[in-house]
Amino acid sequence: MGFSTLKRESSLVTLILLFILSDFSLNVASNSIEAARGLLKWKATLQNHNNSLLPSWTVDPVNATNITTPCTWSGISCNHAGRIISINLTSTSLKGTLDQFPFSLFSHLSYLDLNENQLYGNIPSPIGNLTKLKFLNLSSNHFSGKIPSEIGLLTNLEVLHMFVNHLNGSIPEIGHLSSLKNLALDGNHLDGPIPVSIGNLSSLVGLYLYNNSLPGSIPSSIGNLSNLVYLFLKKNHLRGPIPSSFGYLRKLTKLELSNNQLSGSIPQEIGNLKLLTDLSLSQNQLRGTVPSSLSNLSSLEILHLYDNQLSGHIPQEIGNFMNLNSLSVGGNQFTGFLPQNICQSGSLQYFSVHDNYFIGSLPKTLRNCTSLERVRLEKNQLIGNISDDFGIYPNLKLFDLSYNKFYGELSANWGNCPQLGILKIAGNNITGGIPPEIGNTTQLHELDFSSNHLVGKVPMELGKLTSLNDLILNGNQLSGGIPPELGLLTDLGYLDLSANRFSNSIPGNMGYLLKLHYLNMSSNELSQEIPIQLGKLVQLSELDLSHNLLRGEIPPEICNLESLEKLNLSHNNLSGSIPTNFENMHGLLSIDISYNELDGPIPSIEAFRHAPVEALQGNKGLCGEVSGLQPCKALKSYKHVHRKWRTVLFTVLPLLAALALIIGLIGMFVFSQRRKKDSQEQEENNRNNQALLSILTYEGKLVYEEIIRSINNFDESFCIGRGGCGSVYKAELPSGDTVAVKKLHSFTGETTHQKEFLSEIKALTEIRHRNIVKFYGFCSHARHSFLVYEYLERGSLARILSSEAATEMDWSKRVNVIKGVAHALSYMHHECRPPIVHRDVSSKNVLLDFEYEAHVSDFGTAKLLKPDSSNWSELAGTYGYVAPELAYTMKVTEKCDVYSFGVLALEVIKGQHPKDLLSSLSDSSLPGANMNEAIDHMFDARLPPPWLEVEVEDKLKSIIEVALLCVDANPERRPNMQIVCKLLSGQ
Ligand code: ADP
Ligand code: MG
Repeated sequence: MGFSTLKRESSLVTLILLFILSDFSLNVASNSIEAARGLLKWKATLQNHNNSLLPSWTVDPVNATNITTPCTWSGISCNHAGRIISINLTSTSLKGTLDQFPFSLFSHLSYLDLNENQLYGNIPSPIGNLTKLKFLNLSSNHFSGKIPSEIGLLTNLEVLHMFVNHLNGSIPEIGHLSSLKNLALDGNHLDGPIPVSIGNLSSLVGLYLYNNSLPGSIPSSIGNLSNLVYLFLKKNHLRGPIPSSFGYLRKLTKLELSNNQLSGSIPQEIGNLKLLTDLSLSQNQLRGTVPSSLSNLSSLEILHLYDNQLSGHIPQEIGNFMNLNSLSVGGNQFTGFLPQNICQSGSLQYFSVHDNYFIGSLPKTLRNCTSLERVRLEKNQLIGNISDDFGIYPNLKLFDLSYNKFYGELSANWGNCPQLGILKIAGNNITGGIPPEIGNTTQLHELDFSSNHLVGKVPMELGKLTSLNDLILNGNQLSGGIPPELGLLTDLGYLDLSANRFSNSIPGNMGYLLKLHYLNMSSNELSQEIPIQLGKLVQLSELDLSHNLLRGEIPPEICNLESLEKLNLSHNNLSGSIPTNFENMHGLLSIDISYNELDGPIPSIEAFRHAPVEALQGNKGLCGEVSGLQPCKALKSYKHVHRKWRTVLFTVLPLLAALALIIGLIGMFVFSQRRKKDSQEQEENNRNNQALLSILTYEGKLVYEEIIRSINNFDESFCIGRGGCGSVYKAELPSGDTVAVKKLHSFTGETTHQKEFLSEIKALTEIRHRNIVKFYGFCSHARHSFLVYEYLERGSLARILSSEAATEMDWSKRVNVIKGVAHALSYMHHECRPPIVHRDVSSKNVLLDFEYEAHVSDFGTAKLLKPDSSNWSELAGTYGYVAPELAYTMKVTEKCDVYSFGVLALEVIKGQHPKDLLSSLSDSSLPGANMNEAIDHMFDARLPPPWLEVEVEDKLKSIIEVALLCVDANPERRPNMQIVCKLLSGQ
């Protein structure tokens, strides 16, 4: 009401002024008309669907040439003289740029708020004309480019907000904006160092620069900002020490420096900041001990020091902080005791000290700490009887005590924690049984009691835990039958009951666990037959029933497990022959059926044919063409014999001939070496004319010599690129065709397993797919070895993305490239027998043809060129694309390619390698909201913003979602490439 009165009054005053001071008022009126025209002109540049944008911004309907005073327009306020002093268009769905915004017409503007719209493009430098401006908010838009240096002209500014945009470059020189109280530039891509002059902003109360890419060190001049209350610099690339000058920031209440690369120790002076409520230094490289002065910070509510290299003790006084709500110091090298009074405040919600070397028992105050929500104590040296240490926690969601030295029994009180989602007490010395009351924690989705000394039966009450995803009870002494009630846990994905003493039969109810992907019941005393219902578990990728007393035949229903990759039935009493329909299980990677009583032929699928002898031995009468087994003579048909002869004729004989040739040539080589001095010229000819070993399938006419000649014996001028194992040359052959020739630095390929090597090369030359670079063959010669490929005009995706040419690759081309790569991988994984894993999917190995269609290169060669798989990762796999599990396992699976594909897809959309996103993903505490913000920053800023077209934006966002599934740290949760293609097919 007051507002409209004010407006009415102001127009009244304008009227009066019109009469009295005609000259002046005419001036004002023309000014305001000019301003109105300017605003309307700008409005016309905005996207205005259904004419619904700013309806009050219009010309006078009666007299169209007359513009109504803009002072009555929505979002506009004027002073008594009719001058516009404030524009507030926050959350008005503005879509467009500020290029036409009439900055020069607002010499009296003191307030400009465009927060939460969809404005894009640069922030125009004429913004510097708004010299009266006190408040400027351009946050939560899509502005890009640099912050114009003219911002430094706005010397009256008190509030400057530009957070959550796509701004890059440096923070301009704003050190003389002496009235500035609030500076918020968080959530951009700012990548210049923090200017030292920021220390001159003597009025500053809040400094928000988090979620950028700020490099360099924190200027110690920030210590001069004696009015500072909030300092947020987290999630940047800041290095160097925390300045000790921070000790002067006596008014500071929140200090967040987490997720940078800060080093050195925590300065003693931090202890001066007595008003501090929030101190977050986590995820840095801080070392040394926690200064004793920290015990002065008794107002602290949040103390986060996790993921550093801090050592020594945690001050016991922390337990006495009366407002402490969150203490998180996990992932350091702390020793000593936990603060005994930790829950003195009665408001402790997060208590996380995992992955340290803490000793002693649990703080007694935890027992009655009803405020607790998340407690992580795992992986320490804590000890004590936990039978009576726990009370009832109405808000508790996560409790992890795993891998300590606790003993005693499980408390029935866990059943009284209605919100408990994760309970882990693995790897301790817990005895006694599982209390049936656990069945009351119906929100539970992860339960891990593995590796303890639990005894007795699994209570049937666990069947009430219908939200359970993971049930892990392996490595105890649990006995009795597996309760059929477990069949009620229909959300279960992971079930490990191995290494216990379970007996009786496997309940058929297990067939209801349709979401299971991992089932391990090995090393128990399970007897009778394998229930046919297990055949319903079509999501299962790993099934281990080994080391039991199972008997009868392997049910043919097992072969319905289409997703199965690993099957272990060893060390049972299974008999009969292996069901023939095993031959449909193409996904199977490894099997073990050793030590049963099986007989008959083994199925002719890869998993069996390539199985080590240990996986088949100890049976009654298995036969087949595998080393260590008898051939199935009786079963051999004419067809088999015929096929075998053909193989001998067409494979072995040429190979023998090749071998003879090799020996002959080596002989010749030695001979010619001897005669070197006499006939050097002739020897040279010999070498050039004879390829030592060559498989070339280029329509039968491509020959070694032609290639060498066309690139003038590997003349530098024909070289088009260099990679890890060699240089690539462009060869234009006399036929008019062009090929790429990759000359290997050194050929370390197997010569002892020549036969396999040759047949693998041959197999690779037979691959035909529109998104795979054709491989024509391989030549090895005394002087050089090379691979021959189809030539792709535009070279590698990596090169295009990192050059000017990236702008040519518009969104639809990029979507197409991602799909092309997905198709190529899906083909190699799912339509080739055996499946071929690439091992080195990266933007360097995606080549583009003239049409920007993707062609994946180097398929299969990573393995070939260094078949010694124990250290393949040294050679194959490009840093930044290698799946995380390869850090601790040498097992290369298709899922490794899926991970690399995910990275690649993100890279294509972002235009650069998504390392920041990947590292923030590995930070498991990342909340969903930040994820959305991260997605907003995922688009290549060199292309027009995708939100200009809703369809494009949706497409890209759903590709990002698929890519994020692919970069899941857990290979089992990643989709396979077939599923990826399906998910992408709608895009
Ligand atoms: P990397 O894959 O590590 O880049 P390579 O030796 O496979 O190493 O390739 C080196 C460079 O040669 C590639 O980045 C690409 O620019 C170029 N290149 C390789 N193969 C071809 C080809 N078939 N057609 C065109 N250019 C190629
Ligand atoms: Mg390559």
